Amino acid sequence: MTDLTRLDYASIRKGLTSKAFTTKEVVQSYINKMDSTRPLNCYITECADKALKDAAASDDRIQNNEARPLEGLPLAIKDNYCTKGILTTNGSKILSNFIPPYESTITHRLKGAGAIALGKTNLDEFAMGSSTITSYYDPTINPWKKEGSDRDLTPGGSSGGSSASVAARSSLIALGSDTGGSIRQPASFCGVVGLKPTYGLCSRFGIIAFASSLDQAGPITRTVRDSAIVLKQMAGHDPHDFTSVKYPVPDYEAALTGNIKGLKVGIPKEYRMEGLDFEVSEWWEKTSQWLSEAGAEIIDVSLPHTRYALPVYYIVAPAEASSNLARYDGVRYGYRAEGAESIEGIYEMTRTQGFGDEVKRRILLGTYVLSAGKYEDYYLRAQRVRQKVTDDFTEVFKSVDVLLTPTTPTTAFELGENTADPLAMYMQDLFTVATNLAGIPGISVPVTTSREGLPIGMQLIGPRFGEEVILRTADVIERIAGFKLKEEF
Ligand code: GLN
Repeated sequence: MTDLTRLDYASIRKGLTSKAFTTKEVVQSYINKMDSTRPLNCYITECADKALKDAAASDDRIQNNEARPLEGLPLAIKDNYCTKGILTTNGSKILSNFIPPYESTITHRLKGAGAIALGKTNLDEFAMGSSTITSYYDPTINPWKKEGSDRDLTPGGSSGGSSASVAARSSLIALGSDTGGSIRQPASFCGVVGLKPTYGLCSRFGIIAFASSLDQAGPITRTVRDSAIVLKQMAGHDPHDFTSVKYPVPDYEAALTGNIKGLKVGIPKEYRMEGLDFEVSEWWEKTSQWLSEAGAEIIDVSLPHTRYALPVYYIVAPAEASSNLARYDGVRYGYRAEGAESIEGIYEMTRTQGFGDEVKRRILLGTYVLSAGKYEDYYLRAQRVRQKVTDDFTEVFKSVDVLLTPTTPTTAFELGENTADPLAMYMQDLFTVATNLAGIPGISVPVTTSREGLPIGMQLIGPRFGEEVILRTADVIERIAGFKLKEEF
């Protein structure tokens, strides 16, 4: 029998319906892969036993012709989604004992649609980072290596466990969250597809808050079609999330027509910046040629305020984080330091011991920019510039349908690289943060491997609720690129 972990969900769905194999067989193959790829450290918590039980129930449904839209889908869940009764750590010591009494809307919906949870994936602590190195549970390792080298590379972050597991086939689809690039950058580093939807399209209820005005849930998959399939089940209004938008959810899969004739593709000149790897730049050019050959019109455009996006992000995101993280005080839930003699002592010792360096750095930064006297100079000014970054996109989408940019300036770096210098790590977010500031969707799709043998991803950015057009364009790129994951890692 073929290795079932090689199939995308569209094919699994077909095979389950035609009874070529069972959900139990599919799930068992994934559990075997979870075992054999454990050294990559993709998962913080594995749920194999429960997954097998769910698989049996799924097979019963299929027998009774009651299959749901995501029946039998082996799903990995980033460990910042609350899962009822299952440890949810957010990659942090401070939540190392947190078993949520409730379920996030997204996981609730996907499970209800037939997805089977394999486990909870590793991430940078509180989703702050681009490498999974800040996880309290040790870094995840990218299944890819440079040609002829065995040095470990980072899968990117913060959804590094999710993207590495999809690439290494220890999950078929994984959930990520993206505040400044945390779905797209790791997808690009691991040679998989990562989609950050429009802000408000997918509920944030039950996803542990990092920066509430920027956080978005999204899928990481091996194909664009799988992203379209799963997004349909994730999207839609949720009364539990007051920023969730009432928007009729389209059939995203139907948008994959393969036809982009007449599509206007903008190439923003500001993304040709210092630090952009030569090869990534070459493939950017090549991808735009592909689109042109497929009938699209390529147009040079300008987003003049994009260069301020990164500094604005590193004011707004820490500000919101410092306020969101105030609740971790050792009193209500989570880790509590031993031996404190006063209530202040509990707060101080718990937070000192419970948070890692990067989280503390963000809290300090955030508290500073919100403090009296600094608020106007930093936070308010950043909000004004954020509006200008957003206005640039609104303006440019009057004349183009999508934007094409690289996802990241470079391919995956070595584990431990960029860690001594936080600014070098923040540069990872150069091409992704602007879309979070503007609340618009972006997708990363793999196009090739570099001369060193590492995946290169391209990003498509769309207007608000432009998921269909970016998925359609990504699908065309995917068909032309013919990118393949390695047979074995
Ligand atoms: N790398 C960015 C950061 O460290 C983005 C993180 C994210 O999207 N969660 O903040």
